[in-house]
Amino acid sequence: MDYFPASYAESRAWFLQNIERLRAKWPVFQPGQHTLSNHPDLSIDWLWAEPHKKEHLVLVSTAQHGIEGYVGTAMLKIFIEEFAPLLDPETTGLLLVHTINPWGMQHNCKVNENGVDLNRNFDFDEKFDPAINPEFRQIDYLITPGRPVRHPAWETISFWGRVLRALVSSGQAVVSRAALLGQHHTPEGFFYGGTKFEESTELLIGLYRQALEEYPSLIQTDIHTGYGPRYQMSILLPPPDPLSSAQAREKYGYPLVQTINPQEFYAISGDMGEYTYRLRDAHFPRRQLSSTGFEFGTFGESLLARIRSLKAMTLENQLRRHGASSESAAAAVRHEFRELYYPAEPRWRQKALADGRQAFKGILSAHHLIGG
Ligand SMILES: [Zn+2]
Repeated sequence: MDYFPASYAESRAWFLQNIERLRAKWPVFQPGQHTLSNHPDLSIDWLWAEPHKKEHLVLVSTAQHGIEGYVGTAMLKIFIEEFAPLLDPETTGLLLVHTINPWGMQHNCKVNENGVDLNRNFDFDEKFDPAINPEFRQIDYLITPGRPVRHPAWETISFWGRVLRALVSSGQAVVSRAALLGQHHTPEGFFYGGTKFEESTELLIGLYRQALEEYPSLIQTDIHTGYGPRYQMSILLPPPDPLSSAQAREKYGYPLVQTINPQEFYAISGDMGEYTYRLRDAHFPRRQLSSTGFEFGTFGESLLARIRSLKAMTLENQLRRHGASSESAAAAVRHEFRELYYPAEPRWRQKALADGRQAFKGILSAHHLIGG
């Protein structure tokens, strides 16, 4: 494996082997594993590396949206090889989580084994309110056509017809809000957040609780792909973060920072980063927390690029639910979906590595965990 793995299995084998290089440096080295209850061949793996004196914890997690975990692994590799050696094992611990959603990574999906989008499943106090996002039903015909995928040319014409209808009758703002917010009422639609905590969610909440109990200061990064400019990764801030995006740009010395709100990014209900702030505020109010997402854009930000993303998501959901009329139609859907979350282009991958390095360096030095 260079930086970018070819499969979940390759990625997992790499992780289990390469965390070993951290064993000698930290006083306590404790790998953990959770096997999915209905998929004994798939697991979430993590490492606690504990310092002598628990002052800071650096937390990196990947593949909450399965297929986004390929780039996640590249970031873990950069972190383990280039940044972990610079940290002080006297005072700084690590929690590295490999694949929050192993089923999704194995099958090149965003959702998990139950069709749930895990970044819409972290609803505080388990309030999975079916009333949120009523606008979703207005555009149901656009994103959940409820039939097998047909020939790519046919699907393109059909999708554009539906998009134009949606833009005219509902407007662009409603379409993007309804599509991206998340919902708890239509299991066959996408960005479905479920009606209870998923297995991965419960596990992660347990790890976050332990982290907040044991460490005064947490620096958290979760890795995502698919949104934003193609050749510039965005650092995302959950809405409860006290920094404005302009302040964070300055503090982290990083050119693009966005807060997860409708003005700068888009609104999300049930976001994991926001959950950790809520958990901290409710039960660990004296803990310092800084939570960021790395979001690697792929198709770009123009209206056309956004429509192309929506089409790729719609067809992938349709394929998973209803199959396709031919193997070539299915292959075209899978290829486009993969390009949306894991682009093959070498130039894109090189820039992703460079942006990841710059962001880790900026965040870790802003928190005085490595030399500036
Ligand atoms: Zn994501």
